[in-house]
Amino acid sequence: MTTVLSDAALSSAANPLDDAQAQLAAAVQTLGYGEGLHRLLASPRREITVSIPLRRDDGSVEVLTGYRVQHNFSRGPAKGGLRYSPDVSLDEVRALAMWMTWKCALLDVPYGGAKGGITIDPRKYSKQELERVTRRYTSEIMPVIGPEKDIPAPDIGTDEQTMAWMMDTYSVNMGYTVPGIVTGKPVSVGGSLGRSSATSQGVVHVSLAALAHAGISPSKATAAVQGFGKVGAGTARFLADAGVKVIAVSDQYGAIQADSGLDIVALERHMGETGTVIGFAGAEPIPGANLLELEVDLLVPAAVEGVLHEGNAHKVSAKIIVEGANGPTTGAADRILAGNGVLVVPDILANAGGVIVSYFEWVQGNQAYWWTAAEVAQRLKARMLAAWDNVLQEGSRRGVNLREAATLTAVERVADAHLTRGLYP
Ligand code: GLU
Repeated sequence: MTTVLSDAALSSAANPLDDAQAQLAAAVQTLGYGEGLHRLLASPRREITVSIPLRRDDGSVEVLTGYRVQHNFSRGPAKGGLRYSPDVSLDEVRALAMWMTWKCALLDVPYGGAKGGITIDPRKYSKQELERVTRRYTSEIMPVIGPEKDIPAPDIGTDEQTMAWMMDTYSVNMGYTVPGIVTGKPVSVGGSLGRSSATSQGVVHVSLAALAHAGISPSKATAAVQGFGKVGAGTARFLADAGVKVIAVSDQYGAIQADSGLDIVALERHMGETGTVIGFAGAEPIPGANLLELEVDLLVPAAVEGVLHEGNAHKVSAKIIVEGANGPTTGAADRILAGNGVLVVPDILANAGGVIVSYFEWVQGNQAYWWTAAEVAQRLKARMLAAWDNVLQEGSRRGVNLREAATLTAVERVADAHLTRGLYP
């Protein structure tokens, strides 16, 4: 019998907020900003912690904790996902909110950054219980969210249905339908075509660009993908569609490997039937941790924060890492990987496809005019590739790696917006 690893067990014990703050501090130093501006960029603009009493289906009552952190509003309303995970902490949400600010600025979508979380393992609750939790959380944070204030979206453990419940709760309380309160909604209630696959499409656009940059043709490339959820499964499928041989994938139960390449469509079917990649007939089981050490051209960590850390970064044999997850590489791992010549495409660029199409969804909703799937796909690709080119150029202009280039670009844009607007009063 395989053991389920919690998200915390998968990642290192490091606090992602330390890494987020260290990235910001380095950027502030390079950009020559003073202490006041540094503190302003380092501090969340608003944080809210709420208790969420939940009546279980058996009649008992449990109290969960919910967070919403709004890191910055200088460039527009706050934007970011809502995560359901038993390990969610305020510091994790703070880090994720800060990364959303940089992601939106880097991709030049007119938002600040936010993130939410609830301490719940959604796999252990019924659909009705999840609906009650979502509605109560939405009601508790209602005063601080809104289509012009802060717009939630799906993240780990949440989906289109979660967004539909949030939209309904908010709308019922307002007295009219407010589609712009969330993105990542079902298409039937104002969601955008292409939103559900947007993050993984974006990951693959930059993965192919990174392979080209390294002179590797997709048909000769091999890849390993950690995580087979919304981001990982789509990434594996689109990589395979592009001719890349995906030789290993993993989930929280373990990993599987097939050197001749996995049949991703068959694997998705197996996943749908059994809830895990384990037991798939076309592959051998391997320990989950080994996936990160495989000799592949491309490694895509698409699970949680901190999976590449001081203890395993030196064992990475991949040429390129494209961060499908937020914060999968700790600062210590980053330095080891840079020293070993591994090209790391940072999260705020690599996984930005989701928030780009969230922005498209919000724009379409505001105009009550919907685009075709082809329009969404083409605009997503154009934005991802423009950002990739920009980060590459900034990196060589400044003589820094891609994460530093991306962070510098984003921090500078947010600081510019803040300085142009000035301080009130
Ligand atoms: N949760 C996703 C992210 O981390 C999407 C956020 C959004 O669309 O607002 O980028």
